[in-house]
Amino acid sequence: MPLDTADIRRRNLGLVLGCVLEADAAARSDIADATGLSRGAVTSLVADLVEAGLVRESSAIAAAKGRPRVLLEPAGDDVCLVTALLDADHATAVVSDIAGDTLARVERRHGRPFGDPAAVASVLASVIDEAVDAVPRRIADLSVVVWAPVGGDPAVVLADTDLGWGEVDVIALLRDRSRSVAVFDRSISLRDDATVAARAEHAARGGIGSLLYLKGDSGIGGATVFDQTPPLVIGGALGHVPIVPDGELCACGQRGCLVTVAGPDILLERAGLTPFAEESGLTSALDEFIARVRAGEPAAIAAWSHGRTEIARALQITAMTLAPQLIVLGGFLADLAADVDATFASIQPHILGAGDYPTARVVASAFGKDAALVGAQRAARERLLADPLAF
Ligand SMILES: [Zn+2]
Repeated sequence: MPLDTADIRRRNLGLVLGCVLEADAAARSDIADATGLSRGAVTSLVADLVEAGLVRESSAIAAAKGRPRVLLEPAGDDVCLVTALLDADHATAVVSDIAGDTLARVERRHGRPFGDPAAVASVLASVIDEAVDAVPRRIADLSVVVWAPVGGDPAVVLADTDLGWGEVDVIALLRDRSRSVAVFDRSISLRDDATVAARAEHAARGGIGSLLYLKGDSGIGGATVFDQTPPLVIGGALGHVPIVPDGELCACGQRGCLVTVAGPDILLERAGLTPFAEESGLTSALDEFIARVRAGEPAAIAAWSHGRTEIARALQITAMTLAPQLIVLGGFLADLAADVDATFASIQPHILGAGDYPTARVVASAFGKDAALVGAQRAARERLLADPLAF
């Protein structure tokens, strides 16, 4: 479909704003060089962005070739992006500026009231309102990330095994409970954490090629990012790769899924940490598990030895299919990435006469437990750049 004039102007506004956000301070002539737009066009686009309060002229002046040049910098002092994350234990809300810097963050345990979406949504609504109240600004983008598969239009949570949910319209529940969500009159993005986290990991490693992201939290999930423009992100149920023939029956209906032999519940059970998890929550129990593996505690070592082998085997199958250039482990698996890398490398094929098969390395997430939030903030910025004057 051909772009009309308004589409082209929107796209060019995004290009110019993107230059200013990325460079932090740039002259109009730099932007023209970087975007290929004419100087006249850049001057007109900048005027619109200044008018909208997203860009301003900096007090710093750069001298080049003897002529002073006026630099532009991000403004948007009255504008913010709001990102909310719902995981198995916590509800978190982050308010950031348009450059992605965090202005406020509120996090609270929701206590995992099983099968009660309204109770969880009330906690999420309260953290969103508290974070927004702490930074009174116009909301340019509001997005919600969940640890669960999402689908439909408008998007809903399809099922959440951590919380005992079937299909749940989280956004509708929030609109009824949060003042800030109720008055937000544009569409609210609802995404699963693995796809936004995978995209953030890919973006953090410019030019890496394709990337496979595998994360462990309450279960195991992930996504693959293929290197194209824009990057193609495909979510996958990596925890449900059926790794053990005729293995244990999984909640998904298959037998021998990766999550049944290397998921957090089974690792904690084998390490004798199930009572710890019931008492202190999953996150603390997994931290304790990692500490015990590091300390060489025999039960934890035995549990992890089995788990890391199964994870490496699942990666082997997936890598043979998708040929990623890099494999990134997120969630609690990030702290154990070196172990998985060693096991994965040891089971790679060797092709006679052709040297070793070029294999991907397994590395830890660049963002740790915040990968999904960082990804969601990044996605919010991309939506802002796609239509900077929409709000
Ligand atoms: Zn399964």
